[in-house]
Amino acid sequence: MRNHFKYIILGGGVAGGYAAREFVKQGLNAGELAIISKEGVAPYERPALSKAYLFPEGPARLPTFHVCVGSGGERLFPEWYTEKGIDLILDTEIVKADLASKVLISASGTVFSYDILIIATGSTVIKLSDFGVQGANAKNIFYLREISKADKLVAAIKTKKNGKAVVIGGGYIGLELTAAMKTNNFSVTMVYPGPWCMPRLFTAEIASFYEAYYTNKGVNIIKGTVVGFDTDASEEAKSVKLKDGRVLDADIVVVGVGGRPLTTLFAGQLEEEKGGITVQSEFLFALCGYYSYRLLLKVGKTDGCFRTSVPNVYAVGDVAIFPMIQYKEMRRVEHVDHARKSAEHAVKVIKAIEEGEPLQEYHYVPYFYSRFFDLSWQFHGDNDGETVLFGKNDPTSASRKFGAYWIKDGKVVGAFLESGNQEENKAIAWVAKHQPSISDPSLLKEKGVGFAIGTMRFNLLGAYVC
Ligand SMILES: Cc1cc2nc3c(=O)[nH]c(=O)nc-3n(C[C@H](O)[C@H](O)[C@H](O)COP(=O)(O)OP(=O)(O)OC[C@H]3O[C@@H](n4cnc5c(N)ncnc54)[C@H](O)[C@@H]3O)c2cc1C
Repeated sequence: MRNHFKYIILGGGVAGGYAAREFVKQGLNAGELAIISKEGVAPYERPALSKAYLFPEGPARLPTFHVCVGSGGERLFPEWYTEKGIDLILDTEIVKADLASKVLISASGTVFSYDILIIATGSTVIKLSDFGVQGANAKNIFYLREISKADKLVAAIKTKKNGKAVVIGGGYIGLELTAAMKTNNFSVTMVYPGPWCMPRLFTAEIASFYEAYYTNKGVNIIKGTVVGFDTDASEEAKSVKLKDGRVLDADIVVVGVGGRPLTTLFAGQLEEEKGGITVQSEFLFALCGYYSYRLLLKVGKTDGCFRTSVPNVYAVGDVAIFPMIQYKEMRRVEHVDHARKSAEHAVKVIKAIEEGEPLQEYHYVPYFYSRFFDLSWQFHGDNDGETVLFGKNDPTSASRKFGAYWIKDGKVVGAFLESGNQEENKAIAWVAKHQPSISDPSLLKEKGVGFAIGTMRFNLLGAYVC
């Protein structure tokens, strides 16, 4: 195996795959690039793991969701990497990084060296055992981050057919996993500390729609905190114990209580900054307290071009904290759209530097989505300021369509939409990016998504005429 590469991407996830495609677009010679990944498969669209991968009928399986299908692009099958002369080094965990010497060392002792490194190590799940929750190492407690873990959950779903599942966590992964378990005919209880699901994004009104929808589907929602598990002789959890004394029977426990950026390899070598808030954090606040939670938030600090404090080392995707120009602050984003775009941006920067061209900074407006049951929502922009809810939010109605706008300093800064069509979703993205002024917020309630469509069309037409 050759061990020196001009470029190494560390991490073969979403950002790793999109970065590889961008290198090829920009011009790459065979043998220049290696991707090193702990996982045993070529980069894939990770969000599929908590959605179609868990369907009981016709589940998604590789190779159908290799990157870059999630953004409408060509799928990069393992052969693609070979054809392009890219070394895809799988099943290889890097356990030591020496950025001063430009080397990475794998668990089996292989030493890799590079001229330019892109760190795309993503996040790892936070486990209940990290906080010493009693019984949290039981064999039937599942977490979802990598495909190997999803396979274990799929196997357990088959073994425990029609059983009882407890899903811990009320963020988007908890909601998606609950829907998946219910669709697999499990009797499901969802536990989170409240006050409502996805409190970092959803307002009480938005959450009440989803909570009612889930309850109508037969999901038992409990606002509570898990303090331990009773296990049996086979080391499986048989019940989940809550702080208020309640005990829930369980055949399977699935946990989605947040992630932690994987930056420990670079501790003390890169400038770091505390900041960014991971989804589902309320659970952790409840579980481990504010200060220990803050300690988990050390992330890799980059500039507007994803360059870290060490020359020729870039950080992209979940691990990067970067200047979010639209909001004038450093933020970290744990969503797939940013993983794709930050990876592409970093490669463009690398190539621009090589060719002596001017550098463009990353102008990013957050975009986040989720899908469960027959629901599908998108959020664009910033959820800061006053909110205005609009539309039909009756959870029993088939013609539901509702959303919310966030207004700050007289401008619409964020928009959420459930069950939007393509044009409506494009319009709320436009509004979040362009932040139109609004003098009368009641207009937003009255016009609903029509406000976003009308404003976008009017401005695009104006730009075209001019
Ligand atoms: C189940 C699930 C569902 C999701 N659904 C959505 C969604 O609906 N919408 C949305 O916007 N976002 C979603 N996300 C978030 C999104 O998938 C992530 O933000 C995105 O994958 C981040 O990309 P990344 O490349 O930074 O990290 P990852 O995709 O996690 O890739 C990191 C890669 O690096 C590898 N790695 C890490 N450390 C090492 C090491 N030391 N040596 C070698 N390899 C290493 C990992 O094994 C992994 O392959 C979801 C995430 C999960 C887990």
